[in-house]
Amino acid sequence: MEVGSIPLDRLASLLDKERAERLLDYAVRARALLADRIVWNVNATATGGGVAEMLQALLAYGRGAGVDTRWLVLDGTPDFFRITKRVHNHLHGSPGDGGPLGAAERAAYEAALAPNLEHLLEVVRPQDVVLLHDPQTAGLVPALREAGLHPVWRCHIGRDSPNDLTASGWEFLRRYVEPSEAVIFSRPVYAPEWIDPARRWSIPPSLDPFTAKNRDLAVSEVEATLSYAGLVSPDGHPDVAFTRRDGSTGMLRRHRGLALTGGPVPDDVRVVLQVSRWDRLKDMPGVLEGFAARLPDLPGDVHLMLVGPDVSGVTDDPEGREVLEECLTAWRAQPEAARARVHLCSLPMDDIDENAHLVNALQQHAAVVVQKSLVEGFGLTVTEPMWKARPVVASRVGGIQDQIVHGQSGLLLDDPRDLDEFGERIAEVLRDHALAHRLGTAARERVRQQFLGDRHLAQYVDLFQRVLEG
Ligand code: UDP
Repeated sequence: MEVGSIPLDRLASLLDKERAERLLDYAVRARALLADRIVWNVNATATGGGVAEMLQALLAYGRGAGVDTRWLVLDGTPDFFRITKRVHNHLHGSPGDGGPLGAAERAAYEAALAPNLEHLLEVVRPQDVVLLHDPQTAGLVPALREAGLHPVWRCHIGRDSPNDLTASGWEFLRRYVEPSEAVIFSRPVYAPEWIDPARRWSIPPSLDPFTAKNRDLAVSEVEATLSYAGLVSPDGHPDVAFTRRDGSTGMLRRHRGLALTGGPVPDDVRVVLQVSRWDRLKDMPGVLEGFAARLPDLPGDVHLMLVGPDVSGVTDDPEGREVLEECLTAWRAQPEAARARVHLCSLPMDDIDENAHLVNALQQHAAVVVQKSLVEGFGLTVTEPMWKARPVVASRVGGIQDQIVHGQSGLLLDDPRDLDEFGERIAEVLRDHALAHRLGTAARERVRQQFLGDRHLAQYVDLFQRVLEG
């Protein structure tokens, strides 16, 4: 993958003096430590999902700081991604497609990784650092270690309380993960007990405020974007420009049919929004049902948008099509009045900057953003609207509870499966403008304090130092 270069000054401009100086000090340390080394990152997909989102920005800041960061994406077969999605679901405590994780799956997993490993061993050098992300890449660890390299494995998923399925997911991964020089989790509780505490790191994700996904947009830009793309009606806008990650200007394409149900959203209504991959654990059908059940008590000007990627565009997520189908079925089962106010939308993935700009505009347009996940590793889809000062209603699971302080920087759902509580929380925010404003303002500040890249980059430098210098 091509990696851009962003000067750290840009990030420093958002920080107070002390934090900005600390960031620049860390850059000096990183340059000295990594002078003749390359920091390789390997993951499973170039687009779609939180890992790809974060790598784009963090690696570019690394380059801006003078460190040679590079990004490789695995080449996998549909069978490989079916197995790794199963491991992913198991680590979240869910059976996924219900299939086994036995000897045949292990053989197929290792066979698919073999050509990737061959390529990797051709390009990496013994002094380099290799950061491998998520279960898809874990199988690369042992051979890299044998070759004298410094593999670090990072797991972006996990479950607060382990169960038999998490145990079986970890059993599959254990022999690959154990030889890692360090293992990173988004939350300490995600680490299985056999990970040596001296090699266990906890590093939560972060958000970059300057990407096409997160940059501030004027209200007029938001409106023009959504109506030109056919997500909000009516459309009377001339061409719409947006800023790409590399700073160049992109022109929005005129899309039709992105709203798969309910047509485009009228421009004079308030939107409740969930943006997610079509992953069962994000519970998009539950959002639909909870919203529809609460409709009689909600103000008449409120619509729901459930937005996810075009299912043909995310190669490492075989579940997507099925979950979208389940949502369409749940929509069809609703009475006409509810159907008109529920908009399932699919965003094109063939231009990731345009996709990011559309997500940005949707998040800034929303009156309330929800994330009703049943399990969530961290949830950048919570961080993103928080940065946009939106009131967020989200499940008290995984990393979401590290982000939202209930009643201060958003509202948490104690039980993500409780549709009554879900509907009530949404209604609460829609009824009370002052509450919505207060939650949104505090949310942005919370992200500024805890979830920007300076903290994340500094943690990486500390980790690399430990790995390289012992
Ligand atoms: N996302 C996107 N387009 C979509 C749906 C999701 O760009 O149609 C992005 C979303 O904005 C966020 C990431 O995918 O940046 C999802 O990350 P998160 O940590 O919430 O969950 P994950 O998908 O990694 O489980």
